Amino acid sequence: MSSQASPVKVYIRIRPTANFAHEIIECLPDQQTLKVRSRKDSKKGKRNNQLNSWVFQLNGVLHNVSQEDTYDRVARSVVLGAFGGYNGTIMCFGQTGAGKTYTMTGAAETYKQRGIIPRALQEVFQEVEQRADHTFSVHLSFLEIYNETMVDLLSSLKKGKGSNSGVLTVVEEPGGGVSVKGLSLHLVHNEEEALNLLFESRSRTLSDAKYITSKLNLVDLAGSERLSKTGSEGQVQTEAMYINKSLSFLEQVILALADSRREHVPFRQSKLTHALKDSLGGNCNTVLVANIYGEAAQIKETLSTLRFATRMK
Ligand code: ADP
Ligand code: MG
Repeated sequence: MSSQASPVKVYIRIRPTANFAHEIIECLPDQQTLKVRSRKDSKKGKRNNQLNSWVFQLNGVLHNVSQEDTYDRVARSVVLGAFGGYNGTIMCFGQTGAGKTYTMTGAAETYKQRGIIPRALQEVFQEVEQRADHTFSVHLSFLEIYNETMVDLLSSLKKGKGSNSGVLTVVEEPGGGVSVKGLSLHLVHNEEEALNLLFESRSRTLSDAKYITSKLNLVDLAGSERLSKTGSEGQVQTEAMYINKSLSFLEQVILALADSRREHVPFRQSKLTHALKDSLGGNCNTVLVANIYGEAAQIKETLSTLRFATRMK
């Protein structure tokens, strides 16, 4: 077989279910296998105790796992890899409300429930301190991609270099790297400065945002619900269309990266994959976290998210 192992690691995180009786997800002891079960639809008046079940195999299943343990299992090695010269990407996807922002940023109120981004910033500066024999400069950018338009969430802050209010574009550099031209870069010296910028950018966020820490890309994607379900018109429909398209382009890129016969990887089809060109696959650490609900009411979206996740593994 000429195709290789997938260039990405895929994890599933299940949002806690309020009523345990409605929980349809089971995580097997290997922490990599997930079972979904549901009662078969029955015709009116007929009793039906038959069960449907599906089994999915991922790189890891996070079921009742704390924010701290989630960081340890999915993010730490990617963050530390950046100190070894490896670009990294950590990205959450899944339907609205399933826990993407909780996973990436955390619950705003409590420090204990902070997510991957603040923990990554903390770890970066811990490492910088421990490696006193090296000089580091850490730059932060906050980029939002909305309907294929890129928005700099920190553009009006004077301090940033490279910020010229204008159209942002992805440019390819000679060595194979990419950068976003016009996106402001902010030099940060410690965790507190970095967190202040994160807070600043969040107050400007229009929808879900994409965060870049140097070449550590920490991405909170927009909700993935299918067009048919949103059943909406106008603006919302346009959004849903862009979101669905960019997920499908992401999948095409990851499948192409996994196939050694493919010479062409279609990075340039969307702003997201283009901006991440030097941080997906190859010599990079790439982790996807699929966020799902645990309850029966969301089974359709859950299965759709799980199928998407499994295809990319
Ligand atoms: P999304 O960004 O995918 O739309 P959110 O992250 O905003 O979803 O989550 C929706 C709600 O569920 C929030 O109130 C969030 O705090 C809560 N939530 C999500 N995942 C978890 C979890 N693993 N543990 C506790 N609360 C969670
Ligand atoms: Mg969100």
